[in-house]
Amino acid sequence: MTASSASELLAKGKQYYLPIYRQRELVLERGQGARIWDSEGREYIDLSAGIAVCGLGHNDPDLVAALVEQAGKLWHTSNVFHSEPPLRLAEELVASSRFASRVFLCNSGAEANEAAIKLVRKWAAGQGRTPDKRVIVTFRGSFHGRTLATVTATAQPKYQEGYEPLPGGFRYVDFNDLTQLEIAMAAGDVVAVMLEPVQGEGGVMPAAPGFLSAVRELCDHHGALLVLDEIQSGMGRTGTLFAHWQDGVTPDIVTLAKALGGGFPIGAMLAGPKVAEAMQFGAHGTTFGGNPLAAAVARVALRKLAAPAIANNVARQSAALRKALAGIDAELGLFSLVRGRGLMLGAVLKPAYAGRASEILDHAAAQGVLLLQAGPDVLRFVPALNIHDDELAEGCKRLHAALRQFAGK
Ligand code: PLP
Repeated sequence: MTASSASELLAKGKQYYLPIYRQRELVLERGQGARIWDSEGREYIDLSAGIAVCGLGHNDPDLVAALVEQAGKLWHTSNVFHSEPPLRLAEELVASSRFASRVFLCNSGAEANEAAIKLVRKWAAGQGRTPDKRVIVTFRGSFHGRTLATVTATAQPKYQEGYEPLPGGFRYVDFNDLTQLEIAMAAGDVVAVMLEPVQGEGGVMPAAPGFLSAVRELCDHHGALLVLDEIQSGMGRTGTLFAHWQDGVTPDIVTLAKALGGGFPIGAMLAGPKVAEAMQFGAHGTTFGGNPLAAAVARVALRKLAAPAIANNVARQSAALRKALAGIDAELGLFSLVRGRGLMLGAVLKPAYAGRASEILDHAAAQGVLLLQAGPDVLRFVPALNIHDDELAEGCKRLHAALRQFAGK
């Protein structure tokens, strides 16, 4: 592809897409592992993995084989009929979750959370709790999706502005603030607390040690459900298949998406025994959810991401990335801290550089490394969980060059 056709394509994006994204000025064409190439043949180290989606990198041969094999057999049945891949996937998700007894398959994270919110309410209704006593508490800085209910659960005004009237029944408290949560639950009208074990979009902010278990205790005390949004933190990203395993809690509902399909769209809501029977025939549904193609790919992604080799690599590369960031910072002094777990890390910019994460991403892309921001002040690193030593080292080298350029050094 010539340079002019890349700019032609970029012009089409500007003309035809709803202008809701600020995409970088490049057109990606193919990927292999943690490397990706644009339409002009430029190579990048991908430390973004499609926003924590491509857990196995790009073009994983086992995912490709699963997709191709299923594509030659059966693409779609709707949920009016059974096919084997989603049945098997549901069984495998239940087995690997260590808590769930039933699964609802859908197409995205927002849909998984929407289903969780509906399940919570249906469960509460079944208990005779009136609508005014079905409050769901969520945390400031959270991100749960873009549908009306999930954007309301997302306790960040910037995602909600202009979409009022928002659905009722949500209450917000500060993340990691147990006292605020106690006060929010004191009236006895809360049916669930919903949170990410590590807030992703809100700045890569992990739950404080002991916070999740304290939330679990409060939920039990008030007869409320614990809903964990593991859409970004799950599927091995933080070093265990589910991040909450590290917090020693048993949730009632867990939502998954992103890396579950390795890049093929799929979401899942996992329901524990307390709530698994609350929705009966006709209570919810989806045309595409659990599509055989998506499920066939997700089965392989789940099997591979649950393997000890992934957990080992996440620990190893997490340490290497932290070390590289510390080295860069020793020279340039840009970060106030690096936080997160496993391969979900955020480098927080010092106040002097606040609001400039996006600018750094431009420098990074120009130097051949793709990363993300988590809000205006945090650089977010969510690479493939099977990233190799040489890929990470090269990515860090290019990041170093980009940050030097940014800092004018
Ligand atoms: N929940 C969390 C924690 C997320 O990070 C995201 C997406 O970034 C979502 C929900 C929404 O997922 P989706 O974009 O697939 O609807």
